[in-house]
Amino acid sequence: MSTAAPNASPAPLPAPEAPHAARTISGLGDEAPAPGTGGKPRVPLLQLDPRTYDRALGCVHCGLCLPACPTYTENGLEADSPRGRIYLMKGLADGKIELTNSVVEHLDLCLDCRACETACPSGVVYHELIEETRARLAEHRTPTLVDRLVETIFFHIFTYPLRLKLFLLPVRVLQKVGVWEMLTRSPLAKMLPGKLEKMQQMLPPTGPLWEKGLDAAYPAAAGKRATIALFPGCVASVLFQDVNRQTVALLQAAGCEVVVPRSLGCCGAIHHHGGRVHAAEDFAKANIDALFPNGTDKPIADYIVNNIAGCGAMLRDYAHLLRDDPAYAAKAKAFTARVRDISEILVEFKPTPPTREMSRTVTYHDACHLAHAQKVTAPPRQMLSWIPGLKVIPLPEADMCCGAAGTYNLTQPAMARDLAVRKLEAIKRTGATTCVTGNVGCAMQIQSEADRMGMKLKVVHPVTLLHEAYFGAETGKAEKK
Ligand code: SF4
Ligand code: SF4
Repeated sequence: MSTAAPNASPAPLPAPEAPHAARTISGLGDEAPAPGTGGKPRVPLLQLDPRTYDRALGCVHCGLCLPACPTYTENGLEADSPRGRIYLMKGLADGKIELTNSVVEHLDLCLDCRACETACPSGVVYHELIEETRARLAEHRTPTLVDRLVETIFFHIFTYPLRLKLFLLPVRVLQKVGVWEMLTRSPLAKMLPGKLEKMQQMLPPTGPLWEKGLDAAYPAAAGKRATIALFPGCVASVLFQDVNRQTVALLQAAGCEVVVPRSLGCCGAIHHHGGRVHAAEDFAKANIDALFPNGTDKPIADYIVNNIAGCGAMLRDYAHLLRDDPAYAAKAKAFTARVRDISEILVEFKPTPPTREMSRTVTYHDACHLAHAQKVTAPPRQMLSWIPGLKVIPLPEADMCCGAAGTYNLTQPAMARDLAVRKLEAIKRTGATTCVTGNVGCAMQIQSEADRMGMKLKVVHPVTLLHEAYFGAETGKAEKK
C-alpha cells in the first residue's frame, strides 16, 4: 500500500542531463586580464562541448606533429606547438591552468592550418578544439577600434558580393585613371594602420569596374555526364570571377552541366574563424537550402563544386557545424557528401587532354585548407600533369602554411610575414617564376609578399593554367548558354 499522502505531488525527478552538457573552464578568477578584456573581473568564460573535450584526450603527447607545425618550427616553443596548445586548452578546460595573457597569445598564434592533423597518428581532430576555444574566448573580448573597422569590413562587406562591389568601386575608378598605384606608394598609404595597409596591398591591381555575375546555367559541351552546382564564393565572385568562368568552361568541357543558384552565399568561413558561429550556421543553412530547395530532400545537382580551398573546407564542415540542429543535421550531411574541389571533379570526369604546348616552369604550393583540411593533394598535381610542356618542380615544404590563414595575416602580421618569407625562399630554390595554388587567400598573400620583396613571381590558380592549355591565353571565356 502506498504511504504517499493523498494529492501530494510526486517527488521531482532529477533534472535530465543535457545531451551535451557543457564543461566549464574555471580557475579564471584572479589571473592577469587577457588582452582586450578591459581588465573586467573574470567570470568563468569557457565551456567546451564534451565531445570536443574528448578530442583532446586522444593526444598521447608523442610529438610527431611538432615538425609539421609552422609556428613551432619558427620559434621552437612547446607552447606554440600542437601538443603544447592541446595541453593548454585541456588545462583550461580542467581548471588547472589560468587564462593568462601568455596562454591567450599562444592560442592566438595558431594558424588553424591543420598540418598537425595530417601528421597525427592518433587522429586528433585539432581544429574542432581550437575553433571552439576561440569562439568561447571571442565572446569575452573587447576589440580595439581598428579591430572593429576590420571586422566590419570582413563580416559585413566582404561576405556580400554586392556590398563588396560598391565598396571597391572608388578603388577601381582610381585604378583605371592610374592614380591608385601612386596612392599605394605614397607616404599616405604607409600611414594606414597595419591591418588596413595589408588589406590594401592584397587587393588585385586590376579588375573590372563592376564585376558581372555568372549565368544561372551553362550546358555541358557534349554528352552530359553530371550536373554541378558551382559555389562561386563571396570574395572570389568579385575579385577572382575569371577563375570561376574558367572553372565553368573546364566543367563544360568535361561533360558537366553547370548551375549557379542565385541563393548561394558566403560559405561562412570568415565568420566561423572569427568566432561568429551562429552567423556561420545561418550561411550554412542558406547554402544547404540552395542545394535542396523548397524544403525537399532532392538536390538540384550531383555535386557542389568550388575552387577555393578555404570555402571548400568550410562547406565540408557543415555536417559538423549543424550536427545538433534537428531540421538541418541530415541535409547538412548530404550536402557535405556532395562537396568537391574542382580538381577532384576534373580528375573524375577527365576531359580529353589539352593540346596547347605551355613551355613554362612552375611549382605547386598546397593550400592548408585543401591539403590538410580536405586531404586533396594529388588531383591538382594530376591536372597540371595534363598540360603539354609544363614543367612542375616540387616545392620544398609544399604543404607548410604561407601565413595567409584567413585573416591571420592581419591579426598576426609578424608570424604571417616570417612564414611568407620562408615560403618565398623555398619557391626561389625551385627556380620557378610561377607559383600555382588552389586558394585565393594563399595567392593574395604570396603575391603581395613577393611584390613587397621585389621578387619576380606570378601566382596563379591551377584552373587558370589548365584553362589556358585548353582554350588559349585569353581568360574568362565561359561558354554561354
Ligand atoms: S593548426 Fe597549424 S599552427 Fe596550429 S597547432 Fe596545428 S600545425 Fe600548428
Ligand atoms: S601527433 Fe597527435 S597524439 Fe602526438 S602530440 Fe601531436 S596531437 Fe598529440
